[in-house]
Amino acid sequence: SADITRLQALIRTIPDFPEPGIQFRDITALLADADGLTLALDAMAEGLAPGDVDAVVAVEARGFLLAGGLAHRLHCGVVPVRKPGKLPGPTLGVSYALEYGEDRLEMHQGALRPGARILVVDDLIATGGTALATGELVTRAGGHIVGFRFLIDLPELGGAAKLAARGWSPRALLS
Ligand code: 5GP
Repeated sequence: SADITRLQALIRTIPDFPEPGIQFRDITALLADADGLTLALDAMAEGLAPGDVDAVVAVEARGFLLAGGLAHRLHCGVVPVRKPGKLPGPTLGVSYALEYGEDRLEMHQGALRPGARILVVDDLIATGGTALATGELVTRAGGHIVGFRFLIDLPELGGAAKLAARGWSPRALLS
């Protein structure tokens, strides 16, 4: 559609960032564009109405930039998932494997009400490692995942398929 074409035009690909061989999708021009940001958030909220979700769980750092607008549309709060050592209170953590090494994500203990209906938001899904770890955290925290919403899916990296295999339903605006 025209909206998708418009959003696509606001995303540029930067070769060899942050490392040689990586084609980085840069969303900063989309975030900076009032109409582009509104279009993106409206489309990410599609199919959901206020009352359907108890909280948006957002992944550091670019997920944060989308989470507030999305939570406002859905009239719910935002719960941050962060890199280790950033949250001040007691946390729950999940470690996950990267191509080289390991990474870890944390959420505050008690951040979710038991059974809370959660929408997980990030800007992009690639291998799915980040989203799977976040889903794991939400589950361990007692939340119930309603869905995952991304601006961009890189389907050749298999992340969305991994989420689907776990029974979680990922949706992305662009691929
Ligand atoms: P994954 O864990 O699915 O391999 O990678 C997704 C995570 O890395 C997301 O949190 C996302 O913000 C970040 N990421 C990986 N590649 C890109 C990219 O090309 N562009 C942007 N904007 N984020 C990326």
